[in-house]
Amino acid sequence: MRFTDRVALVTGAGSGIGRATALRLAAEGAKLALVDRNEEGLAETVALLPAGTEAWQRAMDVSDEAVVAACVADVVAHFGRLDVLCNNAGITGGPTSYAIATEQDGEIWQQVMAVNLYGPMYFTKYAARQMQKQNGGAIVNTASVAGIRSGAGGNAYSASKAGLINFTMTSACDLGQWNIRVNAVCPGLIETGMTKPVFDYARANAKEHKLGSRCELRRYGRPEEVAAAIAFLASDDASYITGQALPVDGGNTASLNMPGMKV
Ligand code: NAP
Repeated sequence: MRFTDRVALVTGAGSGIGRATALRLAAEGAKLALVDRNEEGLAETVALLPAGTEAWQRAMDVSDEAVVAACVADVVAHFGRLDVLCNNAGITGGPTSYAIATEQDGEIWQQVMAVNLYGPMYFTKYAARQMQKQNGGAIVNTASVAGIRSGAGGNAYSASKAGLINFTMTSACDLGQWNIRVNAVCPGLIETGMTKPVFDYARANAKEHKLGSRCELRRYGRPEEVAAAIAFLASDDASYITGQALPVDGGNTASLNMPGMKV
């Protein structure tokens, strides 16, 4: 029960990793502010929370600064405080975003940056102002292995996650003096709404055994496994950890994983 009497705001809470994070934090006693643009998904998450969980929810777009500012103000008005921020909402940019460097689309870059990088920046800006008043808080950003290496997403997605890893470091340095810790998780392949097309394709084509097979643990991950790492970084168990990006990837980024080099 590491989050008893603590208020946690989770974005992208209507699906996948955000939902699993909301459930994990609630199971450990947190009061929750849940945000997603998908109103239905948000309602499903709320329905799954343990009985008695205090939850506030809002269907909104994380990339709109005025909307984010109002959201944080309303959460603080509702709960009186804000202890944990999980910047988790994200998008891939769609199938065309996987084009090679000579075929990049500036509009897709703007959409992906707006959600994956500007969204966390806006939430950090307003949430950290409240955390400064409390002289403490924890922010956990959901980045990706795509922000560390090429090959796990389109160019815009990868650049947005690399940017988020760096923003994790710069904001950790800015905010440490107020005892506000900022860290990131870098998931590998996890089965969620975002990766559903990949999983659907593999299952429809008898390629399920290939999903995650290039990870050292030889499997893909579950949202709950990322949520556990987010909860750790958000908790006092990580009280001396800030500015770090933790891969949660079955060992994927630990290896060059060169085809032909393994038995
Ligand atoms: P997901 O199941 O698609 O969940 C993401 C949620 O965020 C969705 O409900 C989505 O709504 C919402 N969202 C998207 N744009 C939004 C916006 N502008 N404002 C508010 N909500 C928005 O995907 P996930 O895999 O759990 O993704 C969570 C995070 O993990 C993302 O940042 C993703 O990049 C990261 N990640 C995922 C993986 C993986 O393998 N799954 C790996 C590395 C990193 P819609 O359904 O309407 O889009």
